[in-house]
Amino acid sequence: MTEQAVRSNFMAILEDNGYRLTLPRREIIGVLEAKQEGFTAEEIVSELPGIGRATIYRTLKLLQEVGAICRLNMLNGAPRYSPSRVEHHHHTVCVRCGLVSEFRAATLERFLRALSGEIPGVIVGHRIDLYVTCPTCLQDEQSRPALHLHGHGHAHAHDDSLAELVGS
Ligand SMILES: [Zn+2]
Ligand SMILES: [Zn+2]
Ligand SMILES: [Zn+2]
Repeated sequence: MTEQAVRSNFMAILEDNGYRLTLPRREIIGVLEAKQEGFTAEEIVSELPGIGRATIYRTLKLLQEVGAICRLNMLNGAPRYSPSRVEHHHHTVCVRCGLVSEFRAATLERFLRALSGEIPGVIVGHRIDLYVTCPTCLQDEQSRPALHLHGHGHAHAHDDSLAELVGS
């Protein structure tokens, strides 16, 4: 899907739900277009100094409520957001760089349907987020093994990159 399609989708979803496309909302959506791989609210705040933090958080919540973006809880640190491209999907999120990807798996859906007979109540929905080390970070890790083997201040390279991701 092209960025143009994602943008019109965001705007269309808001309008369909009766929300006006105010200037701040347009500006926020404009920035989100460039964030196809997952982002934190604070990233958007720092890229839009002219718009109040509260407005940005409210708009993200709104986009989440209308199903335009997904909110992912991280094992560590601030939640990440990701544009919702397909109707029902699951996520992988890289614990090192925060890259968010969507995936669908028919096997998983079948398994969950089968499971519904074995748990109390009726399943009305589910969400599955898998925490991964993405291929790029994995490659990065493999090409710099010295960082793990030797100390000299670089022993905690992983923790540092996680701290960058989490922010402060
Ligand atoms: Zn999603
Ligand atoms: Zn990664
Ligand atoms: Zn599913």
